[in-house]
Amino acid sequence: AQEKSASIMEPVILPNVKKVIAILSGKGGVGKSTVTSLLACEFARRNFKVGILDADVTGPSIPKLFGVNKKLEVKNDKLQPATTKLGIKVVSLNLLLPSEDDPVIWRGPMLSKVIKEFWEQVDWGELDYLFIDLPPGTSDVVITVFQSIPVEGAIVVTTPQDLASLIVKKSMKMVKRVKNGKLLGIVENMSYFVCPDNQKEYYIFGASKVEKIAMEYGIEVLAKVPIDPIMVQMADEGKIEEYTKNIFSHVKF
Ligand code: ADP
Repeated sequence: AQEKSASIMEPVILPNVKKVIAILSGKGGVGKSTVTSLLACEFARRNFKVGILDADVTGPSIPKLFGVNKKLEVKNDKLQPATTKLGIKVVSLNLLLPSEDDPVIWRGPMLSKVIKEFWEQVDWGELDYLFIDLPPGTSDVVITVFQSIPVEGAIVVTTPQDLASLIVKKSMKMVKRVKNGKLLGIVENMSYFVCPDNQKEYYIFGASKVEKIAMEYGIEVLAKVPIDPIMVQMADEGKIEEYTKNIFSHVKF
């Protein structure tokens, strides 16, 4: 009987965490972690209390973007998140591994267990927004997040090339199935390039198709993010918080 009740997964509610928003993508490398970080920075700058749960367990990159590397401590049986300069609380597997470049070679069930602990066993304190950086695709971990954490809505990050692919559509359908259609919007990253010489916008990967897809799925286009070498530089230097172009200044959840 115990087995049975354990298999019916009801998300554990943390009353002090108000809104949980998951960020997903079809494949890796489209800028999901960067977008997660920029959203978190935007809301932190608006004086909201913000956290990031790095659930991209096989390629955790959130700590690096913020330049945090101190190992997480446990106090009163609770994992204490790292805190960034803007006061964003961060939990990531990379802040637990003995060495940052250690690979994570666990199987799905183990990873799913860690994700649940990152929600239930962390001293998140009071948060207005918790952003979850999901692994790409529709893996075990992604399903675990939606089943064991009360996610309010999801944001899909794509690139112009990725938009045409089936996997991003699969991801959106998955959210609709497990979350009853709570897709908050779509972000088209690396959408175009603004030439620094003449300020003209160049659609390197062809005309944007994001509106068409958004309409098809009945969701909003939250932003079209240009390719920006300065963003890469800030990200590489662990200073994503210093990137202050107003990409998400109009966004409300
Ligand atoms: P994902 O989380 O989807 O794997 P990342 O956020 O790690 O992707 O981004 C992959 C790489 O692309 C990183 O080197 C990042 O700095 C770069 N990148 C992301 N968005 C942009 C952008 N708009 N312009 C330029 N480079 C970007």
